[in-house]
Amino acid sequence: MSIEAPNEIKLMVALGYVTIDGDCWRWNRGHQSRGYGMAGRKLIHRIAYETFNGPITNGHEVDHTCFIKDCLNPAHLEAVPQSVNRERSAERYRQAMEKRRATMLAKGTCRKGHPYSLENTRIDTRGSRVCKTCANDNARKYRERAA
Ligand SMILES: [Zn+2]
Ligand SMILES: [Zn+2]
Repeated sequence: MSIEAPNEIKLMVALGYVTIDGDCWRWNRGHQSRGYGMAGRKLIHRIAYETFNGPITNGHEVDHTCFIKDCLNPAHLEAVPQSVNRERSAERYRQAMEKRRATMLAKGTCRKGHPYSLENTRIDTRGSRVCKTCANDNARKYRERAA
């Protein structure tokens, strides 16, 4: 959902507190460890929600429908019961990991120019991509040297 940034947000952009990133208004000052924007000791998206959308019902958490944790666009914020937010987060985490793996596999080639395709790539124990063609070549060379 796209809405025009109100003057408060434009001011924060001008001050360097907020970066406009597509439809997302991203807080670029303090962040807490889980990636949420912080202003002092308050979560920035809660402040944004209360400022633009109204008070947050007791026991509700503010969820990002855009998945960007430091976004404070009130159109991307939805107050939901804590349990709903937890469920959504777990599902999103799973999807994000899958997506990360897919983009990792889809992008680029190894140092010798072999594609990191689904068939040609495995992920080693440290989470790095391994080119199967190179791995096989290396194994063959090793065997030839040993012979
Ligand atoms: Zn957003
Ligand atoms: Zn390779």
